[in-house]
Amino acid sequence: MNYQGILSDIYNESVKKQERGEVANYIPDLAQIDLNKFGMALVDEKGTLYTCGDAKEQFSVQSISKVLTLSLAFRLVGDDLLQRVGVEPSGDPFNHLSLLEQEQGKPRNPLINAGAIVVADILVSQLKNPKETFLEFIQNIANDPSITFDTKVAQSEKKTGFRNYAAAYLIKSFGNLENDVDTVLDFYFHQCALRMSCEQLVNTYYVFANRGKCLQNNPYLDLAQVKRINAIMLTCGFYDEAGEFAFEVGLPGKSGVGGGIVALLPDKFCVATWSPGLNPKGNSKLGMEALEKLTTKTRLSIF
Ligand code: GLN
Repeated sequence: MNYQGILSDIYNESVKKQERGEVANYIPDLAQIDLNKFGMALVDEKGTLYTCGDAKEQFSVQSISKVLTLSLAFRLVGDDLLQRVGVEPSGDPFNHLSLLEQEQGKPRNPLINAGAIVVADILVSQLKNPKETFLEFIQNIANDPSITFDTKVAQSEKKTGFRNYAAAYLIKSFGNLENDVDTVLDFYFHQCALRMSCEQLVNTYYVFANRGKCLQNNPYLDLAQVKRINAIMLTCGFYDEAGEFAFEVGLPGKSGVGGGIVALLPDKFCVATWSPGLNPKGNSKLGMEALEKLTTKTRLSIF
C-alpha cells in the first residue's frame, strides 16, 4: 500500500480547504492555535511511519487521552470498572449533564467527560502519584520520555471548566466519586493537557492496532481489553457524532477539542490527524474529512 502517496494527496487536498471549522474557544489557551495547521501520521503493521504536514508539531490532545486513562484503569481494576461507568453511547455532547442526573451518577461511557472523571477518580484512588504514573505509562508505551503535560493549558482549563465541576459534583452527590472534586479534576485537567504530536500519537495508539503490544512488542493490555477498548472507541469516541464517524470513516477512534483524532484498523495501521478547527459537535472538521478520504482511497476499514 502506498501510504505515503495517499497521505500526500490528502494533505494537498486538505490545505486548500477554506471551511476549516472553529478552534475550541471555551479553553482560553486553545483559542490561540493557528487554524491553518494540518498534520497526519500513520504507522503500518510493520511499524513503518508515514507523515505529512505538521505531523511533528505537538498540540493539546484533550479527550484523546481518555482512552489511555481507561486503559490504565482497566489494567488496575479490571471489570470492576464497569460497576462505575457504562459502555453505551450517550448520543449527547461530551459535556452533557442531564443523563447523569437521570442515571444516578453512573456515566454512560468512559469517553464522555463525566465517564472520564470517574475513571480519573479510580486512578487517583489506586495510584500514589497518579499524574507521574500516568505519564510514565504513556512514555513507556510510546518509548518516548519527552511526552509531558502542558501545565499552562491545565491551569487555563481549571479556571473555566465549570461544566466539569458541575459533572463531578453531581457524580459525587450520587456517591460515585471517592476523592474530592478538586483532586480528581486536577488529574483530569492534566490528562487533557497532554501535549503530543501526530507522530507521538500513532507511536502510542499503535498498541490498540497491535492487540495490546507496543511498537517494541512489549505487552500493555490483554487481548480482551483491547477488543473492548476498541469497541468503546467505535461506539463512543465521537460523542453524538459516533454514528457519523462509523458511517463516513469506519474505524474505531477518538477525538479531542485540541483538533486531534486518532483512529486504527486492527492488525493494519494506526493513524492520527491534527487540524484545530472543530465542527459543531466538537470534532476536527478537516480531520474527519481526511480520515474519510484515507479509508476510501485505501479501501481499508473495519467494514
Ligand atoms: N478538556 C476538555 C473538556 O473537559 C476535553 C473535551 C474534549 O476534548 N472533547 O471539556
